[in-house]
Amino acid sequence: LDASNCVYPTEYEGHFDSLMISKEEIKEVVRSLAVQINEDYRGCRPVIVCVLKGANPFYQHLLDALQDCRQGYSMEFIRVSSYEGMGSTGNVKMGLLDKDLEGLKEKHVILVEDIVDTGTTLSHLIPILKEKVNPASLEVCSLLSKRIKVPQKCKAKYVGFSIPDHFIVGYGLDYNELYRDTQDIWVISQKGIDLDPSSFK
Ligand code: 5GP
Ligand code: MG
Ligand code: MG
Repeated sequence: LDASNCVYPTEYEGHFDSLMISKEEIKEVVRSLAVQINEDYRGCRPVIVCVLKGANPFYQHLLDALQDCRQGYSMEFIRVSSYEGMGSTGNVKMGLLDKDLEGLKEKHVILVEDIVDTGTTLSHLIPILKEKVNPASLEVCSLLSKRIKVPQKCKAKYVGFSIPDHFIVGYGLDYNELYRDTQDIWVISQKGIDLDPSSFK
């Protein structure tokens, strides 16, 4: 992949080993995911739930593409995290507020995720949501799914890209809260890993 047209904040120079997915490729895949969702949900108005923070850029582009398909929806946001640094902790923290779940009750729900890695996050989240909001249906749309050696504990119905097992950043995906602010998806370099996030003000 040719990274010469990619832009990113100047302070990230040298922090990426290689380009994994370009913004053009993302755009195409997002469009095709929206077409699939529109085929499956035509005639109903799913609640599309952004799993913050990582999924946010994908979520915004997916909603745009759904509008192009004339697919109606409503929007909700939840916050969940299981990663610290580069390893899945298996320890899923859920900032689920009952008032945020109100809008999901008995609706057709689509959870929008940035990436499914081990599936631990979803395998915790989904049973809780099912119990609390009794959705008419519940599906997951994830931009990325990692090809890992063991079976994922939970799979997304709609997947943009299946990727090899590298730690990646960009387009919402962070490393210690850095690198969310790029348009493309990158494999992080050693220099990127070694960076002290507190060096920026
Ligand atoms: P899982 O619970 O499926 O193992 O991991 C899900 C969460 O871990 C994702 O929503 C994402 O926040 C984080 N994650 C997993 N793999 C990566 C990765 O390669 N890069 C980054 N930045 N985050 C990841
Ligand atoms: Mg996520
Ligand atoms: Mg993260």
